[in-house]
Amino acid sequence: MKTYNEVKLAQELIRFPTIKTEDKGIMKFLSKKLSSIGFKCKVIKSKGTGTKSALNLYARFGKSKPHINFLGHTDVVANLNNWKIPPFRGVVKKGYLNGRGSQDMKGGVACWISAASNFIKKKKFKGSISIIISADEETTGYGCPAVIKYLKRKGEKIDFSIVGEPSSNKSVGDEIRIGRRGSMNGIINIYGKSGHSAFAGSYINPCTALAKIITKLKSSSLDNGTKFMPPSNLEFTKMNVNNLSENVVPQSASAKFNVRFNSKHKSSSLKKKLSKIINAIAKKEKCKAKIEYKVSGEAFYTKPNKQIYMVKKIVKKVTGNSAKLNCRGGTSDSRFLGSIPRLELGLRNSTIHMVDERSPISDLKILTRIYNSILENYF
Ligand SMILES: [Zn+2]
Repeated sequence: MKTYNEVKLAQELIRFPTIKTEDKGIMKFLSKKLSSIGFKCKVIKSKGTGTKSALNLYARFGKSKPHINFLGHTDVVANLNNWKIPPFRGVVKKGYLNGRGSQDMKGGVACWISAASNFIKKKKFKGSISIIISADEETTGYGCPAVIKYLKRKGEKIDFSIVGEPSSNKSVGDEIRIGRRGSMNGIINIYGKSGHSAFAGSYINPCTALAKIITKLKSSSLDNGTKFMPPSNLEFTKMNVNNLSENVVPQSASAKFNVRFNSKHKSSSLKKKLSKIINAIAKKEKCKAKIEYKVSGEAFYTKPNKQIYMVKKIVKKVTGNSAKLNCRGGTSDSRFLGSIPRLELGLRNSTIHMVDERSPISDLKILTRIYNSILENYF
């Protein structure tokens, strides 16, 4: 049975210019690599950014329980000008792997596949290892949900998932993410009655109601935070009164806001809570309110369990780091995993999305050892 070297595999992956959900043959390449070490591979289509579908991959080794999964993506962000070494060449130089995706996150994908290939070759085990690779984590985010839908249809059950996003900060394994805050945007439109500002009583000023709503929302605490997440916070990001006259009370006023919320809330209950406050003030001010919400992602969190403590112990053993368990960072495909217990642990994020993205070779080696040890201890 073959084994794969993480650096060589990462170099090969970087050479596919997979921006904006373009496949460029990468899923076929990965399927071939994984099939030849015993994985069953299925390419799952989802909506792409252009006319072509995006291609995502689900690969599984083994049929029985327990089932450990790795979630990653092969798409990369652009920002491709002014690189010292061309972004898709995958050059190793002076101890670094250079190229777009070296950290975010073809490097991590290569480490997991390398670790799995070594583990499968060395050890007979009972259980399954699977890999989900999405094609659009950086853009539309349709890929991972399409794979999850496929898994539901097939009755596939994942017991634990490792999300390979570059979660590490100063050194590999210094941080492990066990959740993410949710994010929701809102627009408040307040409608009053316009009129001449000299004739008080003849108009209903929506600005007054909106100002009171903003004051109330900013002074109401949403919660006190959780052990791993800060208090939820609502921030106003735009206020607008479309009025060019100084002596006319406008008909309407609007404001936009964003809420970052912790695992004490679901977007649905949060919407109800906010709408109640907004509508009550609008009514008192004799205005009408229209509120629109857009949820970018629910908050999620895996309560530190046996597997999470196991990974923490492995990280300590391999790197000496006492990993901080936290919920920092932006959003990732992890939000689509529903109730699957999971953590995020990958390379460092020191150059992600930047010009001259690169990863120390030593980081790739360390992460592969961590992943390998996770497999050895999981089964
Ligand atoms: Zn990423």
